[in-house]
Amino acid sequence: MIRSLTISAAIAGASAAVSALRGAHVNTTAGCTGNTYDFFLLVTQWPITQCMDVFSCTTSQQDFTMHGLWPNNVDGSYPCTCTNEQFNQNAIASILTQMNTFWPSLNGAAASFWAHEYTKHGTCAEDVLPTELSYFSTALKLRSAYDPLAALATAGYNPSNTQGFSVAEFNAALKAQNGFAAAVSCDSSGNILETQVCIGKNLQPMACPASVTNSCSASTLYIPASMH
Ligand code: 5GP
Repeated sequence: MIRSLTISAAIAGASAAVSALRGAHVNTTAGCTGNTYDFFLLVTQWPITQCMDVFSCTTSQQDFTMHGLWPNNVDGSYPCTCTNEQFNQNAIASILTQMNTFWPSLNGAAASFWAHEYTKHGTCAEDVLPTELSYFSTALKLRSAYDPLAALATAGYNPSNTQGFSVAEFNAALKAQNGFAAAVSCDSSGNILETQVCIGKNLQPMACPASVTNSCSASTLYIPASMH
């Protein structure tokens, strides 16, 4: 099934235990297929827009925060829930401060969001990111290295409710940072909801395949500075 993208130091080698787990799980989750993938989508969300439009929350956080690091296929399909492994918060105790800052939940308990992301997506990435800690810590490092806010700021675009930029300008800013354009989704007023940066299995940015598309029909994009 094609995944709708509308709104929506490599750690090598899987352990024998992980290898045994992979493929042992019967994948029956709707909307996804198989347990192989071609690359990652680094998906970040702008909390202010998410709280304005999607979730019942309030925030003033001016960071793109993590939604997930998703194994994905060039044709737009993706695997999910590839093993029976369960999320264990103790495994990420050493990065809890960063998790709470850069991977907050805008909808309920953070641990539930992290568990959802890990069981659905992280369990499919274990050939590259064999442990829960490597999955979350690598995702945070990628977010920091390819932070859309930093790329946009370098290009002169900052959080603002009134000063915007075009999708072409968004892509030029990301390309200047990463070498490649990204994808962006926004609401009907152009407020950015999410960004998607394509990351190869070598954990380096790569050109997004045609299946990863922008979904902004607004002519001007905004990174809203406050809820309004
Ligand atoms: P996916 O299941 O593909 O990882 O992402 C989609 C789901 O993530 C949707 O159900 C969406 O509501 C949820 N989601 C996105 N952001 C957040 C968040 O900040 N907290 C929680 N709990 N869920 C979120």
